[in-house]
Amino acid sequence: MTAVPSALVPPVPARSPVPAPAPAPVPAPAPARSRAPRSAYDLSRGELAGLLADEPPYRVRQVWDGLHRRAHRPAEMTELPRALRERLEAALPAALGEVARRSADGGDTVKWLFELADGRRVETVLMAYPDRVTVCVSTQAGCAMDCAFCATGQRGFERHLSAGEIVEQVVAGIRAARPRRLSNVVFMGMGEPLANYGRTWAAIERIHDDLGISARHLTISTVGLVPGIRLLARATLPVNLALSLHAANDELRDRLVPMNRRYPIATLAEACAEYVAGSGRRLSIEWALIDGVNDRPSDMAELAAFARPLGAHVNLIPLNPTPEYAPGGSPARRVAEARDALLGLGVNATVRVTRGVEIDAACGQLAACDTGPVVGPPQVR
Ligand code: SAH
Repeated sequence: MTAVPSALVPPVPARSPVPAPAPAPVPAPAPARSRAPRSAYDLSRGELAGLLADEPPYRVRQVWDGLHRRAHRPAEMTELPRALRERLEAALPAALGEVARRSADGGDTVKWLFELADGRRVETVLMAYPDRVTVCVSTQAGCAMDCAFCATGQRGFERHLSAGEIVEQVVAGIRAARPRRLSNVVFMGMGEPLANYGRTWAAIERIHDDLGISARHLTISTVGLVPGIRLLARATLPVNLALSLHAANDELRDRLVPMNRRYPIATLAEACAEYVAGSGRRLSIEWALIDGVNDRPSDMAELAAFARPLGAHVNLIPLNPTPEYAPGGSPARRVAEARDALLGLGVNATVRVTRGVEIDAACGQLAACDTGPVVGPPQVR
């Protein structure tokens, strides 16, 4: 495991004059191992061996493979004696309690509302496409980044998730995707993954090494925490990076993504160049198109000037509605014009097909409030 600090985010200094309220300071993370593991997937193999000290040695591999290769709960490990299954089920309770599960897009999108052991709630979204099955996982309960248009930001920060709580969301995706194989993991659910770098990276290592999903199928999305981007540039696994840019001038971005006041556009561009050079991976840029705010030809020209030197791909996402942000998403015609403008400026751009709007599962809508009926078993095809 790479030893990296969890707290990468210094408090945000306000520039003068202050264009918008400063985001909430990022709370100090709890020590990673100060109490019992939150999830079975927080246990190292050595810790599992400790738990199974009175069992024959081969049991460690059996249970480890059961948890990871088969994505089984201890109760489902029928290869184990019943008493051991029961002991493990008690020692390793599921960290994620399913409060609600809703589906949309003919069953191709499933959103879970999970409750953690301490009552905090997070959401996870599974999306089936013809060529892949992707799970979108949360890395924090709530979020401290305070982006104006994002439902999670509007709820505020609660706590970091443990590595195991993140991995367990992927395991839920693997189980629900069957008989298909879960192919991709995007760290685009609730929270800012690079503000919880250590635990997110530990989850990535477990997902890669033990769940067997390749690094090129893992994508971290960030508001642009420069120290975290620099760590990714030097990381041992070449994961993909998506940058939530939304504005390419500091005046507008300070208002939309307050963390821009700490890491302005020029600094961000340098860190992204380091990532592209260091990882050998292509950067992608997320841009939520907001009616009359960041969808004008001048916005596309600024975006192109940022994206082109980095060779970045741009994902345009018409803004999804959230309770506390009045402006709407750009109309379809302006979305198409924005894409064409970027293509004309030599930037690779696509419009992201939005999934799950009717169940509040789309980008920026995850707030962990249950507003609808629970559906039956997932219909993922
Ligand atoms: N904190 C990380 C990951 C979570 S958000 C990040 O910001 O990247 C995942 C993506 O959804 C980000 O690109 C975010 O900017 C975008 N998003 C947030 N609110 C949105 C909204 N209302 N409509 C469309 N996209 C939104």
